[in-house]
Amino acid sequence: MEKLAIKLLCSIFLISLLLHTLPARSQEVDDEREFDYDKNSEKGPARWGEIHPEWGNCSKGSMQSPIDLLNERVEVVSHLGRLNRSYKPSNGTLKNRGHDMMLEWESGAGTLEINGTEYVLKQCHWHSPSEHTISGRKFALELHMVHESQDGKVAVVGIMYIIGRPDSFLSSITDHLRMEAGNGETETVVGVVNPKDIKIGSRKYYRYMGSLTTPPCTENVLWTIVRKVRTVTKEQVRLLRVAVHDDSDTNARPTQPTNGRPVQLYRPDENKDD
Ligand SMILES: [Zn+2]
Repeated sequence: MEKLAIKLLCSIFLISLLLHTLPARSQEVDDEREFDYDKNSEKGPARWGEIHPEWGNCSKGSMQSPIDLLNERVEVVSHLGRLNRSYKPSNGTLKNRGHDMMLEWESGAGTLEINGTEYVLKQCHWHSPSEHTISGRKFALELHMVHESQDGKVAVVGIMYIIGRPDSFLSSITDHLRMEAGNGETETVVGVVNPKDIKIGSRKYYRYMGSLTTPPCTENVLWTIVRKVRTVTKEQVRLLRVAVHDDSDTNARPTQPTNGRPVQLYRPDENKDD
């Protein structure tokens, strides 16, 4: 009798384990659709802060991102130094997060060093149109390279694009993006991806303290926005949106109040080498 009871308990345990693991995956996808970018929607950017208590920063935070990088307001400095990047090729997976496409390097893809802190490159993803603006101007696309330090601090490097010649990095993953777009898969293993192939092409960059631009809108994110605007084709921007399958044309959060935050523009000293 006791044995039967134990067997029964085991089966119940296994079944409940199964029931819990299976819906958890679809739950994740649902979670990702818990917010959207439609300004008239109940789940739109103006309401993000009300959807979950943990997302409160989205409406109550004082240092939110993105912002407008107003040229007249930035402080031009030469002491920040060149972006100290030591990226390395690493295995990457394309993931549909329901609101964007993300390329994730599961074991990290090298580091970015800022003010003595090492941040490991975890993933990159795209927003269209751009989230940051420069003196009110929006661009066709913005790439975010998300880095994390050992103690959980986040540093994001943003690169903006206008429509023009193809972006070589996006060209290199086009087949995988098409696969995502075609069969609606949520994950595609890409293989080894070298983040060095993501071109910056400029030493100049903006620097300010902000937040994640999607819920939970966590603050104290160290932002670096590359000054040079690069190019991408209309088709490349379209493909990134189609692959998401979310019936939305855009995934850009509107710009947020700066609340007097300093924004610096790093420009190397002409006479020096850095
Ligand atoms: Zn982003």
